[in-house]
Amino acid sequence: MARIALITGGTRGIGAAIARSLKASGCNAAAVYHGNAEKAEAFRRETGIPVFQWDVADFAACAAGLKSAEQYLGGPVEILVNNAGITRDALLHKMTPQQWSEVIATDLTSCFNMCRLSIGAMRERGFGRIINIASINGQKGQFGQTNYSAAKAGVLGFTKALALESAAKGITVNAVAPGYVATDMVAAVPREALARIEAQIPVGRLGQAGEIARLVQFLAADESGFITGATFSINGGQYMI
Ligand code: NDP
Repeated sequence: MARIALITGGTRGIGAAIARSLKASGCNAAAVYHGNAEKAEAFRRETGIPVFQWDVADFAACAAGLKSAEQYLGGPVEILVNNAGITRDALLHKMTPQQWSEVIATDLTSCFNMCRLSIGAMRERGFGRIINIASINGQKGQFGQTNYSAAKAGVLGFTKALALESAAKGITVNAVAPGYVATDMVAAVPREALARIEAQIPVGRLGQAGEIARLVQFLAADESGFITGATFSINGGQYMI
């Protein structure tokens, strides 16, 4: 039977590449988006991957959305990729409480929401794969991103704690920390700032979404059951720990 996979933020950028790649590996995959229905519909038409709209920052919306997605997919989610994320950059001395809260809610609390709602069924079945998309900036910090760096560093701690709680139940929980990848999120970075970032990447270029997806597909496989609680850096050599 095809494994059921759900990818949040799976209609654009890195998430879309992950959804395509999990489908190509034989999964019954679905993608969640938030506001960009036009992009989501185009993605659905092109790939045949069903899309669902809800806000991953909202627990009640996640509960209702997950219920309808699982009904459509024909069973509980076995592979959960917490990929949805946003940035609201500002220096801390200018950051608004709203910029702080939106990023913490969308990038970190979303992992709680989605895992809390999916893990019961995974524990009952004795199988699960959870992959949380963190960031290089949660590992090293980034100017103008106290909110984002805090959220993504939080994802790393969350991943390890949940991995410990879940290991005996056949559920692996890992984090993938990408460096700079050519997506809409990075297109929002001013040109000069992006040139400075590119100059710091030893590989000499931005990453491609498909390169992140390849790693996620590996971690999602049944055969990857001995890998848990790990953080995988995939950043072109920009930050080595
Ligand atoms: P994009 O901005 O290209 O796409 C974001 C996706 O997340 C969209 O599908 C969007 O839906 C969805 N989304 C955003 N907010 C919500 C929400 N509240 N509820 C549900 N879905 C939501 O992002 P990227 O592909 O660039 O990034 C994906 C992940 O990778 C993020 O977690 C990001 O932090 C992380 N990352 C990205 C890096 C990069 O260089 N691009 C580097 C390191 C980490 P919609 O289309 O409806 O808005």
